[in-house]
Amino acid sequence: MKILIVEDEVKLGSYLKQGLTEAGFVVDCAADGLDGEHLALTEKYDLIILDIMLPFIDGLKLVQIIREKNVAAPILLLSALDKTQDKVKGLETGADDYLAKPFDFAELLARVRSLLRRKSKEIKPSRIEIGDLSVNLIKRVVSRGGKKIDLTNKEFLLLEFLLSNEGEVVTRSLIASSVWDINFDSDRNVIDTMIKRLRNKIDSGFESKLIHTVRGIGYILELR
Ligand code: CA
Repeated sequence: MKILIVEDEVKLGSYLKQGLTEAGFVVDCAADGLDGEHLALTEKYDLIILDIMLPFIDGLKLVQIIREKNVAAPILLLSALDKTQDKVKGLETGADDYLAKPFDFAELLARVRSLLRRKSKEIKPSRIEIGDLSVNLIKRVVSRGGKKIDLTNKEFLLLEFLLSNEGEVVTRSLIASSVWDINFDSDRNVIDTMIKRLRNKIDSGFESKLIHTVRGIGYILELR
């Protein structure tokens, strides 16, 4: 799951990034409205956290722009202004929730999870089955042939990403930017190593393999 934070208070931004990363999310940060607009419209996020008072483009305007471009990710607004009119305006424009500063990180995390749950109920099944592989995306439980498989957080994110692109070839650089905040050129081995680990857990010992290498390009998850 990938989250964008647009927050001009650098300290708060990095605090949120650290907390959400520890909670298992991939997090991008933007420090002003323009950078935030660029990322929101060019990358794919599962959730966007927007501060209202931002340089260049404010958070309320950003909500409008993001929704006009049909980006459907849930939006959580943050603001020191606990004015009812801002809250109403934000929600009317297309934001999904609102949190007034200062807030506890625990509350932010609860809201983030709640928004993602709501979204996953709308557009995603809570469970995916391919052959004898069964993945509960909400409970994060994976099993194959009825046997439970323990995955690390990153392995689960990688599997989730491959499943969301089932039957399509995904490049290493797409995996790198979607599952990790890393640059493809320097970290190619990281991807291959993580795929190898995931394969050992998902495919090793089973006759039909699910994760396949597409030479020179990347990987594909499909039942063959
Ligand atoms: Ca601000």
